[in-house]
Amino acid sequence: MRCVWCGNDVTADSGISSLFMWNSRPICRQCQKLFHSLEKEPTCPGCGRLMEEAALCYDCVRWKEMESYFPKNQALYVYDEQAKEFMERYKFTGDCAVAFLIQEDLKRALKTYLKQGYTICPLPTSKQSLEKREFESVEYFLELSKIPYQQFLYHIGKGKKQSEKTREERMQLQQPFVLKEEVNLPDKVLLFDDIYTTGKTIRLAVKLLQEKGIEDVKLFTVFR
Ligand SMILES: [Zn+2]
Ligand SMILES: [Zn+2]
Repeated sequence: MRCVWCGNDVTADSGISSLFMWNSRPICRQCQKLFHSLEKEPTCPGCGRLMEEAALCYDCVRWKEMESYFPKNQALYVYDEQAKEFMERYKFTGDCAVAFLIQEDLKRALKTYLKQGYTICPLPTSKQSLEKREFESVEYFLELSKIPYQQFLYHIGKGKKQSEKTREERMQLQQPFVLKEEVNLPDKVLLFDDIYTTGKTIRLAVKLLQEKGIEDVKLFTVFR
């Protein structure tokens, strides 16, 4: 069997001890440590980014000055070169199997929110990027990990992919989400997304939910 990430033959490795099976998908020992985990690192309590010591980062300080809503984000891993390569392979070449790499950590982290009564809502992707990509990449992370979730939102914004926009274009983004009419909203929501870059998009979703009366909204992203 071959490792889902590097393709090395894990059966020919050094026997069963070097083989890790997650949902019958092999990941070699080296690739289990592919990402820089934020779990035991000092992070910004606003956006979850890696810091030298736990304190609000410059972006979050500015955000707090500008906006009345300030939900907290937790992230699993640092968005470094390795993470970029992973997202590229996952999203844009549609290599879904690589999602097994984050499955265990994701499950463990999200379960603590479920236990606290949060309903998980993945951020929907725009219709345009969906047509290109042909799958809901954010939802698929949850499905693969068998994490229950509810989708309250529609994406109505059109335009370029996040990664094709300049920072300025991302900051100027108008509300791209609307609420589905038929849903009953819970009291506590955890919005889930793949990457926190400027935080603008995900915070617009928070704004929408808070306008509908949900006060307890938290954020969770795979990468920051
Ligand atoms: Zn590997
Ligand atoms: Zn921050």
